[in-house]
Amino acid sequence: MQALLSLENITYSYHNLNGETPALSDITFHVTEGEFLAIVGPSGCGKSTLLSIIAGLLEPESGTLAFGSSSSIGYMLQHDHLFEWRTIYQNVILGLELNKALTKENIDYVLQLLNDYGLYAFKDKKPSELSGGMRQRAALIRTMAIRPGLLLLDEPFSALDFQTRMTVSVDIGNIIRNTGKTAILITHDLSEAVTLADRVLVLSGRPATVKYELPIHYDMERTSPLLIRNTNAYQTYFNLLWKELSDDLADKETKP
Ligand code: ADP
Ligand code: MG
Repeated sequence: MQALLSLENITYSYHNLNGETPALSDITFHVTEGEFLAIVGPSGCGKSTLLSIIAGLLEPESGTLAFGSSSSIGYMLQHDHLFEWRTIYQNVILGLELNKALTKENIDYVLQLLNDYGLYAFKDKKPSELSGGMRQRAALIRTMAIRPGLLLLDEPFSALDFQTRMTVSVDIGNIIRNTGKTAILITHDLSEAVTLADRVLVLSGRPATVKYELPIHYDMERTSPLLIRNTNAYQTYFNLLWKELSDDLADKETKP
C-alpha cells in the first residue's frame, strides 16, 4: 500500500513570553491510503498540535511532512460548529459554498449523504432541533462534502454523552470505512480507538513521541460496538494500550 502521508522526525515547540514549550519531539509515522489510524496520548501531550501540523496550520520546527498524492484535507473538531442561523442543509453545503463548488454533482452527493446517514428528513431544521449525535453526523457530512482525501478528526465525540458516543462513533467509523476514506482520529478514549481503528499509535507525555504502535484486527465486521467489545481481541488490545498509557503516567509521577 502506498503511503498517503509521511511524517519524518517532526519536532515542534510553542514560543511565548513564558519561554518555550516543547510539544512534539521526533515524530515519525506513515499513513497508508484507506487506513483508519487512531492516535491516543495523555491530555496536553501534543495531539492537537500534531493534527495542526498535518493540516498545514502550523509549520514544523524540523522534520518533513509529505503527501503521497495531492489530497485535500477535511478537519472535524470536538464541537460541531454548526451555525444556528443556517438549516442543516445550508450548514452541510457550507464548505462547497466557500470553495465555489456548488455544482449539481456535489449537491446530489450531499443529498445522498444526508439520506444515507438518516438526516434527509431533517435537512430544513435548525441545528438546535437535532440531537447531539445527529449534529455530529451533520458535521461529518459537511466535512465529507468537499470529498477530502484525508480526514482529520480531533476528539469529535468527546462532547457527546457516553451512550450517544458509543453509537455515533461506530456510525461514523462505518461511514468512513464504507467510503474508503483515509482518516486520523485523535482520542483520549481507548475503547473508541480499539473499536474504530486499523492501527493505534500511543504518544508519550509532552513533548509527544510515538512510544507504541498497535495494529488492530477483528475476525468480524465492526457493525455493533457491543459485539466488538465482547471479543477477546478487544480486551487484549485494550489492556495493551492501557498498560502503555499507565506506564507513562507512572514515569511522570516518579520524575522530579
Ligand atoms: P492535546 O491535544 O494532546 O491535549 P495540545 O496539542 O493542544 O495537546 O497542546 C500540547 C501542549 O502545548 C500543551 O501543554 C499546551 O498547553 C501547549 N500549547 C498548545 N497551544 C499552545 C499555544 N498556542 N501556545 C503555547 N502553548 C501551547
Ligand atoms: Mg487536543
